[in-house]
Amino acid sequence: MGWLAGTLLLSAALADSPPKIPVVASIIPLGDFCRQLGGDAVEVQVLIPPGASPHVFEPPPSVIAKAAQARVFVYIGAGLEPWAAKLLSSRNPEGLAVVEAAQGLPLIQEVAGHHHPHEANAADSRAPHQRSAESRSGAASKSETHISGNPHIWLDPVLAQEICLKIAAALIQVDPERRQTYEANLKNYLKELARLHQEILKRVTTWSLKDYVCFHPAYTYFAKRYGLREVGVIEVAPGREPTPRHLHKIVEAIRHYGIRVVFAEPQLSPRVAEVIAQEAGVKVLMLDPIGGRPPYGENYLQMMRYNLNTLEEAMK
Ligand SMILES: [Zn+2]
Repeated sequence: MGWLAGTLLLSAALADSPPKIPVVASIIPLGDFCRQLGGDAVEVQVLIPPGASPHVFEPPPSVIAKAAQARVFVYIGAGLEPWAAKLLSSRNPEGLAVVEAAQGLPLIQEVAGHHHPHEANAADSRAPHQRSAESRSGAASKSETHISGNPHIWLDPVLAQEICLKIAAALIQVDPERRQTYEANLKNYLKELARLHQEILKRVTTWSLKDYVCFHPAYTYFAKRYGLREVGVIEVAPGREPTPRHLHKIVEAIRHYGIRVVFAEPQLSPRVAEVIAQEAGVKVLMLDPIGGRPPYGENYLQMMRYNLNTLEEAMK
């Protein structure tokens, strides 16, 4: 075959393969689900970068504008991404499939503090001012469908399966020609999630300690699923400094329950956790609710197993 014929065949093949579906996800775990389910058929963009906490980081307007070109938009909801309304209102809903992961799931209602007030933080000190003006219109248009509760549903592998079902349905909706691919990917990934769930169930039963203290209420669904108890949370609303009285109560809980470790997180300052650990004479370990980079694992399954090992080190 000559060079020209080869080139023509190649361009014909390229023209035949349908373009990738642009998918936008708010946080890294949702982006990973989209990649697992979409495979080569999708191009996934994640809006909150590794190392940033969704509680204190808001994507800049330029990123939100670009993300509005997505065919599938996946976010958690439950107040975790107050800027999502702006993204959704900035584009024509035709041809767009939106997955609000928390919609219809049994959300755990908590103290008012976990409504993600987006306190000013070094990650984005100028956003809160812009936000106050912009979110008013967004909140008004969204108020009817607003759902609230603890947003950390993805850290429960059983709820993660529910989220994946929704993402696969959205991919099929915008790209029905590749339905079989998406369904096959979904089947495989649900199996992986089920395997993870079984592994956690089995290991948790060997732990002598079921009580833990963590930085913010990220593991509430995980704890509920596996029979663990969150007996102290350092910052109920990330970014809001706890009072000395609250810190004292946590130190008392650590002593009362014989807890050996305080969990901090790579996205938020470990300073307060270190102060508490020193006061109580215990150590600090990291649990990562987001992942996306070493050493916490580059994908969801790796991150969950990293956390499982860390929990086991503290509670076995
Ligand atoms: Zn959180």
